[in-house]
Amino acid sequence: MNKKNGTMKKTIVTDGLYLYTFTDYTEKHANTVTVLVRNQAGADKQALIIDPSYPEFAEQLKTDLQTQGITPEVIVLSHYHPDHVTGCAVLSQSRIYVDEHYEYNYDNCRIWEPGYTYLRPTHLIRGGDSLSFGDDTLKFCYAPGHSRCSLITQINGKIIQVGDLLMLDVGRKNTLPYIADGGSIVEHIKSLKLIKELDPDAIIIPHGGLIDNKNRIQDLVDDRVYYLEQLLNSKGKLPLEKYLKNDISWYDNLEFHDTNMVYLL
Ligand SMILES: [Zn+2]
Repeated sequence: MNKKNGTMKKTIVTDGLYLYTFTDYTEKHANTVTVLVRNQAGADKQALIIDPSYPEFAEQLKTDLQTQGITPEVIVLSHYHPDHVTGCAVLSQSRIYVDEHYEYNYDNCRIWEPGYTYLRPTHLIRGGDSLSFGDDTLKFCYAPGHSRCSLITQINGKIIQVGDLLMLDVGRKNTLPYIADGGSIVEHIKSLKLIKELDPDAIIIPHGGLIDNKNRIQDLVDDRVYYLEQLLNSKGKLPLEKYLKNDISWYDNLEFHDTNMVYLL
């Protein structure tokens, strides 16, 4: 059995902006892929894809796009981790954009999950760069913390894809922040505060989908900042409950706490 087999759900955010959410066989975790589609007069419709996730999911996405006559042209990666980038191999004709600090994780990925093909980007992004795609404009902010090469992508200013700075499980519980190899607690806090400064109308979370309620966005960010600041201030000596703004039953992936504490050493 293919471990990644699960369900595909497609939702429309705005005209030409779609989310494809793939839930894996555990039905606990999901990957949401962002797809922008543009119409070109006299040519095929083309798609820009943010975080194509795993190849098993990217295959389903590719098939769905093909049936609509849409060609994948551009891929943007929020960061270079296996669960966001390995789908690139299925969409290999596309241009691939990733943050300029990706190399460290390119090496890590081949150790963490060696069974996949890892494509190098065709274009590097620097924080502050913009990318035009038809009538849409993407603007990138460098937002490290979860990883060394994390980006926040503003889609026409109002909607932002936040990478793994925020995560929810399928049951909508808040996943604990995760500081991966090359990440940083201090940088993670700064990047979360940047989300608030950008004041988006909606956010897209690769593991969590669309949140289009401003109060909910602020609460999610504040909750994670609280945890990370408690972590820094306490030097990691308290029971887990003491780091959490809400009741412990509100959270998932509590095992991330042990990994995060390593970054205090
Ligand atoms: Zn991820």
